[in-house]
Amino acid sequence: VVQPAPESPFEKDIVAFLKGLSHEIRNPLSGIKGAAKCLKELKLYDEELVSVLIEETERIERLLNNVVKSFDFSVLNLKEVNIHKIIQLVVKLFEAELRESGVNVVYDFDPSLPEILLDPDRITQALINVFKNALEAVTESSRKEVRIETGYAIHPSGFIFIRVKDSGVGMSEEELANLFLPFYTTKEKGSGLGAFITNEIVRRHGGEIRVKSEKGKGTEVTILLPMKRSDGKDTNSR
Ligand code: ADP
Ligand code: MG
Repeated sequence: VVQPAPESPFEKDIVAFLKGLSHEIRNPLSGIKGAAKCLKELKLYDEELVSVLIEETERIERLLNNVVKSFDFSVLNLKEVNIHKIIQLVVKLFEAELRESGVNVVYDFDPSLPEILLDPDRITQALINVFKNALEAVTESSRKEVRIETGYAIHPSGFIFIRVKDSGVGMSEEELANLFLPFYTTKEKGSGLGAFITNEIVRRHGGEIRVKSEKGKGTEVTILLPMKRSDGKDTNSR
C-alpha cells in the first residue's frame, strides 16, 4: 500500500492562500473584462465603464500590496516571547506526521533562557521550515530522531541559540552551498523557499543561521538570535 505523503499544515496554508488570492483577483478582473468589452462594442467613450476599469484595477493593486506586505520580512511585529513555547507549538503542528512516520523528537532546553523580543509569527514560520526539513531528512533514515536544543551562545555572546539536529540524509558540500538560494530544491515536490525565507526572517531579527551537515549522517541547523536588539530599528511594529 502506498501512503500519500502527509501534507504539512504550512503547505495547506499556502494552497488555501493561493486559492483565495486567485479568487480575489478573478472577481475584479471579470469586471474589467466586461467593461472593456462593452466599451469596444459601444465604440464610444462611456464615463461609467471607464470608472469600472480604474476602480477594479485599483482593487487588484491594493490586494497585491497586502500580499507583498505579508512576504516583506522587514516588517516585524515584535513581542517578548518564550522561545520554548514557540518550539513546542511548532512540534505540535506536526504531531500527526510524527506519529505516522515514527520520528522521535528529543528536547534539550536551557530553562534559564530569558524571554526575547521577536516576531512570534515569523519565528514560528522559520522554525516550521527548519523542522519540516529535518523531518523530511530523517524519513528514510534508520535513526528517526530530531533533537531540538536551546541555550546561550558563547560566540557571539549576547545571543541565544536554537539548534535542530537530525540524523537524516545530510547534504553534500554543493547542496550545503546552495541551501539558502531561493527555489533551490533536491525534492520532487519541494518549493526551495523554506531555507531562503527562514534565513531572511532570522537576518531581519539581527540573527544568523549556521549549518553543519554530512552526507548520510545528518544535519545541524543553528539559529542565533540576539537577546537585545542593538540597531534600534524594527523594534516597533509598523
Ligand atoms: P525544500 O525543502 O522545499 O526543498 P528548502 O529551502 O527548505 O526547500 O531546502 C532546500 C534544500 O536544502 C532541500 O531540497 C534539501 O536538499 C536541503 N536541505 C535542507 N534542510 C535539510 C536537512 N535537514 N537535511 C538534508 N537536506 C536538507
Ligand atoms: Mg523545506
